[in-house]
Amino acid sequence: MGKTIAIHDLRRGRAPAGASVLAPGADRLDTFARPLRDLRISVTDRCNFRCSYCMPKEVFDSRHVFLPHAELLSFEEITRLARLFADAGVRKLRLTGGEPLLRKNIEHLVALLAALRTPDGRPLDITLTTNGSLLARKAAALKAAGLGRLTVSLDAIDDAVFRRMNDVGFAVEDVLGGIDAALAAGFGPVKVNMVVKKGTNDDQVVPLARALHARYGNAAVLRFIEFMDVGSTNGWRLDDVLPSRAVLERLREIGPLTALPASAAGETAQRWRFDATGQEIGLVSSVTQAFCGDCNRARLSTDGQLYLCLFATHGHDLRALLRGGAEDRAIAGAIDQLWAARDDRYSALRTAATPGVDAGPAQAGERRVEMHYIGG
Ligand code: SAM
Ligand code: SF4
Ligand code: SF4
Repeated sequence: MGKTIAIHDLRRGRAPAGASVLAPGADRLDTFARPLRDLRISVTDRCNFRCSYCMPKEVFDSRHVFLPHAELLSFEEITRLARLFADAGVRKLRLTGGEPLLRKNIEHLVALLAALRTPDGRPLDITLTTNGSLLARKAAALKAAGLGRLTVSLDAIDDAVFRRMNDVGFAVEDVLGGIDAALAAGFGPVKVNMVVKKGTNDDQVVPLARALHARYGNAAVLRFIEFMDVGSTNGWRLDDVLPSRAVLERLREIGPLTALPASAAGETAQRWRFDATGQEIGLVSSVTQAFCGDCNRARLSTDGQLYLCLFATHGHDLRALLRGGAEDRAIAGAIDQLWAARDDRYSALRTAATPGVDAGPAQAGERRVEMHYIGG
């Protein structure tokens, strides 16, 4: 067992430095016996889109101060942490943001991460989530650097609706051009994330499924994500959520579907397949069906704070350890201790509190962390 950490240390966000007591490769379990498997790394807090559900224009305007470059973890710092997380059980790395392709030379980071190995000598599963705006330019370099898989976000097939959603007038066809380039570079199948917001783009569920199948066959896997109450700036209301079961009902207009088994423990999407065409879709029901029970995800913010839940109000400062000259053993010990004390299960608690428009258990005066800062 790891040492107990004083709770005030966790709250205040100082990462406890301490020697690792667990061998690399041994399972680290949190207080609900969930292992650590998935690390999401935000490489920039900037974005060239202003999706209303993530970075609303009114809040993230010209007065908003983004992190200065010196605050960002360098590629070497990210890689060092990723290596220690791999020793602690992480098997999957997801690069995200903000818009990760805005980070200069992101393919160099991918190459550094692709060279890492698990304690039993296997490469990590490296994925990246992007809004697709720069993908046509970057896809081949990302593939050559060793990126394994790609997720592209696309909230509508109707150009006017999409331009309204991204709020910077970006065209659907340019995102599709990015997906084309990704498939041509050898990625596939590409996952496509659609955040469904009732009354805004829910009329796009069926048309987007049809259009992607027409263009890509089964090389694009569309995933419908319930609009989440992440952060404190997106004006979330329960009324704006179209539950996944309603999305599924609408998809039945296209034809019958059959449920598929989960492909991995801790998977966020329920998978379904159209009987007639074999087209696969996913439903991410973070609001109506919490999946905290086997949540094995940790998140590293752009400036090196470790968040143990998407809805956390505090991170733990790993950058201070890195820049304070801590040895690997001390940083590994901090990761072990933080994970061992993890008791987050925000969505499950929120589900228990629904019905009712409940902004959840963030304490009065505390702000939940924003999505673009720790990534999706
Ligand atoms: N900029 C990239 C993109 O949009 O793909 C990567 C970062 S973005 C924060 C990661 C994912 O989170 C995207 O698929 C986005 O649609 C999703 N997302 C952002 N805010 C959300 C919210 N409030 N509810 C549900 N999903 C959200
Ligand atoms: Fe940018 Fe992605 Fe957030 Fe949209 S969802 S504002 S593309 S970070
Ligand atoms: Fe994991 Fe937190 Fe989301 Fe639950 S609410 S699934 S613990 S990130």
